[in-house]
This record gives sequence, C-alpha cells and structure tokens, in this order.
Amino acid sequence: MRTRWPACILWMFFLILFFGLAQAGAQTRDVRVAWVPDGDTLILEGREVVRIKGIDAPETAGNGRPDQYFAQEATARLEELVQDRGITLKTGQVSEDRYGRTLAHAYLPSGENIGLLLVREGLAFYYPHEDQDESISRALLRAQQRAINEDAGFWPRVLQQHPEVETWVGNKRSKRFHHPGCGYGQRMSGHNRQEVETLREAFYAGYAPCRRCTPWPDDDM
Ligand SMILES: [Zn+2]
Repeated sequence: MRTRWPACILWMFFLILFFGLAQAGAQTRDVRVAWVPDGDTLILEGREVVRIKGIDAPETAGNGRPDQYFAQEATARLEELVQDRGITLKTGQVSEDRYGRTLAHAYLPSGENIGLLLVREGLAFYYPHEDQDESISRALLRAQQRAINEDAGFWPRVLQQHPEVETWVGNKRSKRFHHPGCGYGQRMSGHNRQEVETLREAFYAGYAPCRRCTPWPDDDM
C-alpha cells in the first residue's frame, strides 16, 4: 500500500521552504563603527564599508570637488548618532552595492532607524531603489515630506535652486529625476516619463536627483 502524506504536512513543508527562501540573504548583526566619512556611509571596526540603505546624503569633498551643501552637518550628525555605541545592521536580498559596500538599514540600540532620523532632520534625502522594504520606503518618504514642510536642514536652500527651470523630468520606473538639459532625461521613454514643475514637487513625490545633473549646491556659504 502506498503511503500518502496528509495535505497539511505537505503545506507546512512548502511554507517552510517558501519563507526560508524569502529570508535567504536577509541578515541582522550588531556592529561597532570606527569612523564616519559622510552622512550615509559607515566604516566598521575591521574596515568593512556600509552604505546606509534608502537614503542619500550630500557628498563630502573628493576628486577635486568641494563639499556639497550640508555635507559636514550630515556627517557630524551621523557621527554623533553612532559614536561610542553598538548599532544593528539589517541587510536584505541584495547585500552589496556595485562598489562592494555592504547595503544595510542601520538601527540604534533604541530600535530607531538611523536613515529615517537623518531624513526627518533634513540631513539626507529618500533614495528609492529595488529590494527595499515597502513599509520602510513609505516611512522614509513621509519623513522627507515632513522635513520639507517644516523647512528642516538643507531643504530651504536646496529647493530654491534653478528657479529658471520650468519642468523637471521624473522617471517613474527608476524614481530618479533630471534637469531638462540632461541626456539621461531626454532619452527616457515616454511611458516612464513624468514631468514635475518644481524641485519641491519632485522630492515630495519621492524622486531622487540624477547624479549627473543633480541640482545640489556646493557648500560655498
Ligand atoms: Zn540627469
């Protein structure tokens, strides 16, 4: 006589397999930070480089370029948040970026998401990409909208840049936006294209600036 597996055991087997695969690659670990090179990057003890996921902060000086506006403020705040205490990293399915840096959300011992705190204070902006937890993405965008509404951090000056531009071009698929003169924006297919009138509107909708045509000012104040 042939043995038949009860249906509920088979279901349990599939569920365990399914959730096991979904969790593969996701990892949580406690680490200590050795130093902070800019407002979205951590160097751990042991020299591992961690790029905080879901945010982007103004760039500090390098390659002959000066600091971008608010780079020092963002770096100092991140330093203050992580110094002298352990933090927790959570990586997702994609645990490294193309430069070999660990991509992770970072949490204080209180459980607060460090990227979210920086966005909330107007020291970093929301940087959407694939493999991002939807609830964290929504929280980051809400925090950014609040920071814009409250003129927090860099927002007042950043949103005044390029008043001469009448239409910025957003890409609905990549969630990046471009200056109308940028080749990347001009080559975009009509299907993905969304025009927005102001920088405020672009950031409010969750678009992040293209790295080539970024409207970010240098820190020349
Ligand atoms: Zn561009």
